[in-house]
Amino acid sequence: MSSKILRIAALAGDGIGPEVMHEAIKVLRTVEKKFHFAFEISEAPVGWAGIDAVGKALPDATLALCKRSDAILFGSVGLPGRDPTIPKEERPERAALLRLRREFGLFANLRPVTLPKALAHACPLAKDRQGDGIDILVVRELTGGVYFGEPKKTEKIPGGHRAIDTMVYTTQEIERIAHVAFQAARSRRKKLTSADKANVLENGVLWRDVVTQVGKHYPEVTLEHMFVDNAAMQLVLRPTQFDVLLCENMFGDILSDEAAALGGSLGLLPSASLGTATNGNTFGFYEPAGGTAPDIAGKNLANPIAQILSAALMLRHSFGLNDAAMAIEKAVARTIDAGCRTGDIFNPNEPGVHQVGTREMGEAIAAEI
Ligand code: NAD
Repeated sequence: MSSKILRIAALAGDGIGPEVMHEAIKVLRTVEKKFHFAFEISEAPVGWAGIDAVGKALPDATLALCKRSDAILFGSVGLPGRDPTIPKEERPERAALLRLRREFGLFANLRPVTLPKALAHACPLAKDRQGDGIDILVVRELTGGVYFGEPKKTEKIPGGHRAIDTMVYTTQEIERIAHVAFQAARSRRKKLTSADKANVLENGVLWRDVVTQVGKHYPEVTLEHMFVDNAAMQLVLRPTQFDVLLCENMFGDILSDEAAALGGSLGLLPSASLGTATNGNTFGFYEPAGGTAPDIAGKNLANPIAQILSAALMLRHSFGLNDAAMAIEKAVARTIDAGCRTGDIFNPNEPGVHQVGTREMGEAIAAEI
């Protein structure tokens, strides 16, 4: 690896954010030594931490740091007890999280859901539906579709109101997300399932056509189209049939949460949101799927694995460091196999396991690198 300095903005945020970020940085520092990388990790406040420091959920200095960084490693923001005390547009999720997504044009959301066999008990599905473990990557388009299409309004009509949302996609928007999904499938088990509603929606017909065209550039990947309602059903009936699952924005919002439930705990699930690649570099925003978990914050109870795996996604997708990303993922798997469990994945009836805290889990993973 070159001696190029990789600049990471680490924004821990609120609740359990600082605790799990601390463990992710510990693991990154271990990887840095082992692989002889040079990471410049700069921490900055966001969310309530930003409001308490300088009165803004996304302080100007934090945004400036993000702009001069190669990637953002994000914790989570928002505190249900404090959010309602300030206007909606100033609240952390809107003023910081959504603002950053918009600012960096993050159009591709990647959510890997991996259920190791050792955690079969944490999955709501019967064991015979879990096969040898679940390993699905949901790729969701994040900036188009019905959440953003115009017109979007509610108007008065005789006898009540009429609400209008508009689903819009262009060929280019579908192409760029399809490329992300095919490239991911190429480095995994080489199967891509594209979920759409081509039997009812014009958008679905275009989606299917464009994904099929893009697929011609990836002959090594098997492409299958599935109606989204069937995909929702198949995820719980036979989740092991999926490798990469590609969806437009709203379908992906729903299916990625359904798939997340199969993973057993929010504390295990990382995510990546990617922008357009420029000069071979992809700016990305990496965060755990869960929130600030105020119920367990500050008690050394949070599972840091989602944050640590988010750092692994960052190494893979923004820095092209696949070996280092895999080293982290394997260290997590070995730590779980060795019986280390934070409270969210601890089952006292499971033989050979012991409960650990956030710090101990981070240390155990770093030691396995
Ligand atoms: P949450 O994800 O914070 O918590 C839901 C449940 O999952 C809780 O019981 C929590 O203890 C558990 N949990 C979550 N992460 C965990 C981890 N790493 N280890 C162990 N257990 C974990 O969702 P919520 O309670 O609905 O929201 C709390 C706050 O977080 C709210 O203010 C919400 O707006 C915010 N939030 C922020 C983000 C984000 O920043 N991306 C995402 C979701 C929610």
